[in-house]
Amino acid sequence: MMPSREDGLYVSVSQIKTYLRCPRQYELHYVLGEPAEHVASALLLGTAVHAALGAYYTVLRDGLSAPLEMVLEVFAGAWIAGQPAGLPVLTEDGEPLTAVEQLGRRMLKVFHSRQPRLTGLRPVLIESPFAIELHHPETGELLDERMIGVIDLVADIDGRRMIIEHKTAARRYGRDQLDHDLQPTAYLIASRVLGLGAEGLAYQIITKTAEPAIQHAEVNRTVQQERELMMTVLGVLRAIDAGVFYPVRGWQCRTCAHRQACDRRTGR
Ligand code: SF4
Repeated sequence: MMPSREDGLYVSVSQIKTYLRCPRQYELHYVLGEPAEHVASALLLGTAVHAALGAYYTVLRDGLSAPLEMVLEVFAGAWIAGQPAGLPVLTEDGEPLTAVEQLGRRMLKVFHSRQPRLTGLRPVLIESPFAIELHHPETGELLDERMIGVIDLVADIDGRRMIIEHKTAARRYGRDQLDHDLQPTAYLIASRVLGLGAEGLAYQIITKTAEPAIQHAEVNRTVQQERELMMTVLGVLRAIDAGVFYPVRGWQCRTCAHRQACDRRTGR
């Protein structure tokens, strides 16, 4: 029941985070392959904004400047592509979908107007996939699974090589989120293993507030945090292998794409 692909066993940070959030959601999605009951508007928005930022940085890497119209055009295309036919889009608090789309446009306008302030930014890699070996944190033994992920952006900023992770978030990230999120830990390990030479990771967070704001926050990770990540990954993989799947009710249920399947399983 391990995460798998045809050419081997893989696990992503996103899968680990899904399991930690709700093991049953992990089971329904990754083990049982339950079809999604809807698309969450937050996912649709995040994906479309990511596509637009990817296009922006690709043009910048080629030594050109990306006009706002182009960025909004890419967003519009990804917005439509992200809505599979026949699948409803679930918005939070019942707000109209057009309001979410307008919010995305406002977020990108703010991003575009502020971004030139990051002078000296030179994109190196955009949407770069990786797969790295995993080792047991105590014995050093090579695990069967490899960790996979996609790094949004590797860029040189004023001579410093950084990994940049784009986020869309309801509010600015707080200290706990910046200090403990597993994603930077995994990406910084990947950077070292792959020889990307990143000195740190910078979040670029665009808030989904009425007046969107940009938060730039640099984080780094210690050897202890890297070791802890491996312990977490190993623990989750063991639990998945043992078939440990239970529901965790909370905020995550509001937009869960498997709510009905979950209720059927519980017999609600
Ligand atoms: S509805 Fe809630 S408890 Fe059920 S699978 Fe989804 S997130 Fe987990």
